[in-house]
Amino acid sequence: MKVVIVGAGISGLVAARELASHDVDVTVVDKGRSVGGRLATRRIGDARLDHGAQFFTVRTPAFQACVDDWIERGVVHVWNHGFDGGDNHPRYVGSSGMNSIAKDLARGVSVETSTMAFTVRAGSGNARWELVIDDGSARSADAVILTSPIPQSLALLVDADVDFDGSPMRTEYDRTICLLVTLDGPNALPKSGGVQDGDEIFSFIGDNAAKGISASPAVTFHARPTWSEAHWDDDDVLEQLSHAAKPWIGDASILEAHVKKWRLAAPRTIWPDPCWSTADGTIVLAGDAFAGPKVEGAHNSGLAAAHVLLD
Ligand SMILES: Cc1cc2nc3c(=O)[nH]c(=O)nc-3n(C[C@H](O)[C@H](O)[C@H](O)COP(=O)(O)OP(=O)(O)OC[C@H]3O[C@@H](n4cnc5c(N)ncnc54)[C@H](O)[C@@H]3O)c2cc1C
Repeated sequence: MKVVIVGAGISGLVAARELASHDVDVTVVDKGRSVGGRLATRRIGDARLDHGAQFFTVRTPAFQACVDDWIERGVVHVWNHGFDGGDNHPRYVGSSGMNSIAKDLARGVSVETSTMAFTVRAGSGNARWELVIDDGSARSADAVILTSPIPQSLALLVDADVDFDGSPMRTEYDRTICLLVTLDGPNALPKSGGVQDGDEIFSFIGDNAAKGISASPAVTFHARPTWSEAHWDDDDVLEQLSHAAKPWIGDASILEAHVKKWRLAAPRTIWPDPCWSTADGTIVLAGDAFAGPKVEGAHNSGLAAAHVLLD
């Protein structure tokens, strides 16, 4: 069986690894320059900042097994056991930033980056499907797994004549505007290094040095979905967020500030099953809109997608 997967976020990479471990011929394509999707980390000077997912928790045995392996190999470490006093539930982070988890998952997997899938159509000859790339080339496959956010996956299936059987697939996504700052000294965040529901603008604030991923002071601010939507097109969003960040920065000064916008940050509706597939199982939709809008949900959805084809 030959499988092509759209998306090298955690769900696509987990699906690919699971299939490859069962000797399936699998290729992942991603439009991004690197793997990871919303597991995103960037460097500013010698600072390192996560600008997508900030940490993750573990609640299911399937994900725990994977995380145990990551801990043993030093891919992840515990940041803390909860913010605001703690709840004894570990918050894990990628040891070199959240993106390093994706890089670890991609090791040994065939991944084509900077490769934008354009459409899925019926294949010619023996291949059931063809994934057409925006440069006009095509990848033939017996099955296709789509792990892009749902509106992007549905757009890829316009030519595939897929019967959705009335499934309520249309999912809205929350937006997030993210401010990344490097500082010349310590900030005013609590010792845990993270603040959830910080104030009326910020839903999360994370100290990347306290997390153990940055050599110098660097803080990530996530604006709330409502604020992000209302201010999406503002020309001065960097100035507005830098001003709002001041109380959390304390006496430090901002050395560099950048804004990153996540248009499809988090699905508002979660599909009740861990993935969706056509009756013949040759088109599978997966990702965090299925098993939950978090790193763990995306992982478990990718695993479930692989098993649609394996079981
Ligand atoms: C700002 C923010 C904060 C978050 N914070 C947390 C957190 O603290 N804890 C937590 O657990 N979760 C958090 N999340 C959620 C978590 O990041 C996601 O649930 C998870 O990473 C989703 O993984 P995925 O594989 O389903 O999707 P993605 O990571 O989005 O992967 C999909 C991939 O598909 C690719 N793609 C899309 N269209 C195409 C195309 N046409 N051709 C080729 N490739 C394509 C994209 O480039 C992308 O790499 C956060 C997310 C955001 C945005």
